Amino acid sequence: MANQKVALITGAGQGIGEGIALQLAKDGFAVSLAGRHLDKVQKVADHINADGGKAIAIEADVQYKKQVFDAVAKTVSELGQLDVFVNNAGIAHVAQVCQTEEEDLDRLLDINVKGTVFGIQAAAAQFKKQGTPGKIINASSVAGHEGFELLGAYSATKFAIRGITQAAAKELAQDKITVNAYCPGIVLTPMWDQIDAEMGELHNVAPGESIKAYLDGIALGRGETPADVANLVSFLASEKADYITGQAIMVDGGIVYR
Ligand code: NAD
Repeated sequence: MANQKVALITGAGQGIGEGIALQLAKDGFAVSLAGRHLDKVQKVADHINADGGKAIAIEADVQYKKQVFDAVAKTVSELGQLDVFVNNAGIAHVAQVCQTEEEDLDRLLDINVKGTVFGIQAAAAQFKKQGTPGKIINASSVAGHEGFELLGAYSATKFAIRGITQAAAKELAQDKITVNAYCPGIVLTPMWDQIDAEMGELHNVAPGESIKAYLDGIALGRGETPADVANLVSFLASEKADYITGQAIMVDGGIVYR
């Protein structure tokens, strides 16, 4: 019998990363959940294991290259191999471009951009060592296709993800490694709770008002769930996506059309 395929997901303790972990476990992957807070990723792993899946939890902060490489090494030592790496961890920041502080820019770039590059490097090195094909899947956004007011610096990091995805896809194709990205819209996760609260403060509007303005603009008429995103990632992680690489695919219910 073939070995069980293994997927590592960063930022898997809540929100979209948790949704991806649950879906890939359902798809039959053994999943390695990496996150900054061990208790949160452990809770999701416990849930998957209790449901008959196979999951481990790893504490890793993606802005540190060594921690990302160590997470891959631990995954392989405990689960035997690596087949899919989902660079999901990311942070948002709400501020006008002209008011964005240098330390906030640094934090966004360190986690969203450097963290994703380290993930690509660690995953590609492991796939090459194994001599197997592999799939790298990165978190971009609608904000990676269009700049949104108060999310300029965040948008810059999500545009960067598309550039890195395209370049890595071209460089790694000879090793049968595909690199793609998912671009969600307004996903109802703790990240949007934070964005809504911070936008509300800046615009002096009640909690819930800022997100409502965004939700009203969605063609399909509802906010997005982590499962909506996980369905696309499930496809990109499967053999059905073997001939797709270098793409940043919208999954936004109809917000940005590219
Ligand atoms: P979230 O804030 O709800 O969850 C993100 C998770 O990543 C958290 O568990 C957090 O602890 C973890 N994380 C943050 N920094 C980390 C680090 N340095 N190392 C390891 N883990 C870290 O966010 P979410 O809404 O689930 O978003 C997940 C990804 O999807 C992000 O990259 C985000 O930019 C992207 N995205 C989200 C939306 C949305 O509407 N929520 C839309 C488009 C793209």
